[in-house]
Amino acid sequence: MGCIFCEIINKRVPAKIIHEDEFVIAFEDINPQAPVHTLVIPKKHISTNLDIKREDNGLLGHMFQVANKITKDKGIAERGFRLVMNCNPESGQAVFHIHLHILGGRHMHWPPG
Ligand code: AMP
Ligand code: ZN
Repeated sequence: MGCIFCEIINKRVPAKIIHEDEFVIAFEDINPQAPVHTLVIPKKHISTNLDIKREDNGLLGHMFQVANKITKDKGIAERGFRLVMNCNPESGQAVFHIHLHILGGRHMHWPPG
């Protein structure tokens, strides 16, 4: 249905996938905003954070566990990193399939832009 991230899950669009299991995949962002910029997405299509159901709670927890493993593998866990999920247009959400941004490898500013 024209979802670019579902196309990546189905391997119809290429991506640099660094983790895959039954429930999620993680791949490198095509337009990185930091030395580490990886996206963790559920294989289940969920359009926005507002569409997360109670039955998805385990899935969301798993996304965070996978994100933690990636930060350790990439050596940024102890230095620090930022996790971002944008929701709806004013946040800047551009792809309407939820994704957890992992950003790190440089100092992060606050407040965010
Ligand atoms: P958001 O603005 O939160 O919706 O973030 C969408 C992210 O997906 C952006 O950081 C894009 O650079 C990234 N992105 C879009 N298309 C692709 C793609 N085909 N492969 C990898 N990352 C992508
Ligand atoms: Zn999708």
